[in-house]
Amino acid sequence: MDIVERFLNYVSFDTQSAEDSQTVPSTAKQLDFAKYLRDELKDEGFDDVEMDDNGYVYATLKSNIKKEVPTIGFISHYDTSPDCSGKDVKPRIVKNYDGKDIELSPGIISSTKKFPELLQHVGEDLIVTDGHTLLGADDKAGIAEIVQAMCWLRDHKEIPHGDIRMGFNPDEEIGMGAHHFDVEKFGCEWAYTMDGGDLGDLEFENFNAASAKINIKGVSVHPGYAKGKMINANRLAAEFAAMLPADETPETTEGYEGFYHLLGIESNIENAKLSYIIRDHDRDKFEERKAFIEKCVVEMNKKYGEGTVTADVKDQYYNMKEMIDPKMHVIDIVLKAMQDSGVPPKVEPIRGGTDGAQLSFKGLPCPNIFAGGVNFHGPYEFISVQVMEKAMQVIVKICEITAEYND
Ligand SMILES: [Zn+2]
Repeated sequence: MDIVERFLNYVSFDTQSAEDSQTVPSTAKQLDFAKYLRDELKDEGFDDVEMDDNGYVYATLKSNIKKEVPTIGFISHYDTSPDCSGKDVKPRIVKNYDGKDIELSPGIISSTKKFPELLQHVGEDLIVTDGHTLLGADDKAGIAEIVQAMCWLRDHKEIPHGDIRMGFNPDEEIGMGAHHFDVEKFGCEWAYTMDGGDLGDLEFENFNAASAKINIKGVSVHPGYAKGKMINANRLAAEFAAMLPADETPETTEGYEGFYHLLGIESNIENAKLSYIIRDHDRDKFEERKAFIEKCVVEMNKKYGEGTVTADVKDQYYNMKEMIDPKMHVIDIVLKAMQDSGVPPKVEPIRGGTDGAQLSFKGLPCPNIFAGGVNFHGPYEFISVQVMEKAMQVIVKICEITAEYND
């Protein structure tokens, strides 16, 4: 089976995950795919093939050398975004793309004006949708690349490699992919998620993240007789919001710049609640931001009385770079693999979190590599066949380089 066939097979399954579900995985239909994948991995002759009760699928390509080398893993998620239907995906291959607008269905145009990313792929074969569903390259492309790379290594015994683990999980799109990932059973020194975007993407830095809930207690008094008595929580909420720097918000920052983001205000005269998220790549600056919130609380209370304002600040996740820094060979190996495959690396900080960050803090350093999909989570999603093939090549190279790693 070639990589395209494999991929098209995978996207024929509807594996949309769902927010606010109480089950694992969040939707039962994901298990249909998990079972199919488990059987396929068995048929391909891999070892330790298993699907656990939560729908996590694991398998091994056994080492073909005597020497001890690190066991590494490749991970991707099989659910698709709740934002857009992934049912009855009707993919089409646009061969030798000519750089013009693509009509997905009558009246539904993927235009180069709206999606200039298309122009990076002139001359390649693009897999597109019919404009009514997403494609599911996020992240079934990752699965196809991993499985195809492992099959290739299985068939090319002259390429030395250690034990390589595969892990495929549900529910990444609802932020639950890493929760039930069995890092111990996976048994890898490090791993890579194949879940990045276009050719060359390599991500190993994400935000440190916290939430802050600010509670304000007011005092309601008849407005005609309120002098010196009323504390209007509405007004205090506005005052608090104004204390945070106006130029450190999502809409005024990019790259490595962190922010405070006001998600919502609920208020009346007696009570107000402000809900914030705090984000920064730099751990020290992140701690400073949380401390600044506390400082604002102290100042408000000095002015309006102790206990008027309280803050509940909770850490959500951390920058995986902290876990990867002591093991930079995990990155060096990818960079070398990309170089050997003729792929120019594009290293960018993630302005969000990833499953890889959670896995990194569970003890499995886990950078994210391109899988090739573009315009995720919507009907204009597409992927280049040639980029998928490059991703597969990078996986093979990583295995090969890791086998020489201790030399
Ligand atoms: Zn993804």
